[in-house]
Amino acid sequence: MENIKEPTSRLPGFHRLTLEARRAQLMAAAGASGLEWADLAAAGLGAEAADHMIENVVGTFALPLGVALNFLINGRDVLVPMAIEEPSVVAGASFMAKLARAGGGFRATSSGPEMIGQIQVLDLPDVQKSRQELLDHRNELLAEADSVDPVLKGLGGGARNLEVRVIEASPIGAFLVVHLLYDVRDAMGANAVNTACERLAPRIEAITGGRVHLRILSNLADHRLATSRCTIPVKELAFGDFPGEKVRDGIIEAWAFAVADRYRAATHNKGIMNGVDAVVIATGNDWRAIEAGAHAFAARSGRYTSLSTWGKDASGNLVGSLEMPMAVGIVGGATKVHPMAKASLRLMGVQTAAELAQIIVSVGLAQNMAALRALSTEGIQRGHMSLHARQVAIAAGATGDLIDEVAARMVNENVVRIDRAEMILHELGK
Ligand code: NAD
Repeated sequence: MENIKEPTSRLPGFHRLTLEARRAQLMAAAGASGLEWADLAAAGLGAEAADHMIENVVGTFALPLGVALNFLINGRDVLVPMAIEEPSVVAGASFMAKLARAGGGFRATSSGPEMIGQIQVLDLPDVQKSRQELLDHRNELLAEADSVDPVLKGLGGGARNLEVRVIEASPIGAFLVVHLLYDVRDAMGANAVNTACERLAPRIEAITGGRVHLRILSNLADHRLATSRCTIPVKELAFGDFPGEKVRDGIIEAWAFAVADRYRAATHNKGIMNGVDAVVIATGNDWRAIEAGAHAFAARSGRYTSLSTWGKDASGNLVGSLEMPMAVGIVGGATKVHPMAKASLRLMGVQTAAELAQIIVSVGLAQNMAALRALSTEGIQRGHMSLHARQVAIAAGATGDLIDEVAARMVNENVVRIDRAEMILHELGK
């Protein structure tokens, strides 16, 4: 990609700037890609472009778009675009990325970009026999699937493997599921995989004498995982009255809660997805696919649990890791249609879907740490409330300078409610 200048992701005082000044600083930090991004952030998706994306379009729906700072991922500074309506997420990710920086930042990896296509085969008198027949024809089926997408094939992608699973017990009895593993390179891959599954169906029916029913991608993309690790020097964790060791142990205790209890794990993983989804959305990717994959992966042992792991190393530093399916693309879907998505990819300077996956999983890990740190020390509300109070003030009708004034009074009083905001506005004669 042209025009990519290696940016720094350290922009101290960025949050205190006006919106215009932030855009200017982003341009300076990220060169032309930042310029384009900042311009587009102001312009957003046009109604005409939206009309080509889905059906029955009547307009567009905007979300706040922020940029997370301080991310150092595999030795590279990355400015991370995040589209999200929830306060505290961008600030939390940026702050934790700053702490992680002191330990060398995030080290992220990803597996090959292999997606799974599922083909359901019904009406088989002997599922084991049919299974063997399909495996005997594996090479022929793989060659057929491989020919579906010449573009992908030319880029080194294509069919990789074929597995046949027997579903012994179901409401309709036993049946077979063929899993087609397909390397989709830099795409999310749903279309290529679905096309390949549909292509194989008649041949599978001919081989088995059965009836092919569903032919569709699985969102449990457990052959397409991204992993990120970070080490936070224990002294970096200290703040206020909390020594670093206490914060570290509090984070580990909070994580243990999520490991052991699914009620907590759901919320723990939701915190991870706060970071993950915001980048997935900013890059025009399918966040429902990522959500589905994440939670199914969290339950892969048969028991829903934490996606992340926290512990300490021999020197007493906090060590965290996160592994999850990450079926994101930098081509296909909305990634090349939505102007913001294109610009977001440029801002991050990503050249491959794997690199994007590594950034996203790192943001998820940072976000997880932000939530655990707050929860295990001063509680989530203190940091959250000042931002939340602004939203409540706006909902009550505050505009301009009044937003901060009303919000500050509610935070001071420790009463952040719309009725109180309305009362303050009334007292101020507005
Ligand atoms: P796509 O079909 O628009 O683009 C992918 C295609 O682009 C590839 O098949 C290939 O032909 C071509 N291509 C060009 N350069 C490439 C490169 N470097 N790497 C890989 N491919 C390259 O997009 P897609 O990724 O197949 O589909 C994603 C969309 O499918 C998303 O919008 C998603 O919402 C939707 N979808 C999802 C599901 C699901 O999650 N279950 C099901 C159906 C559709």
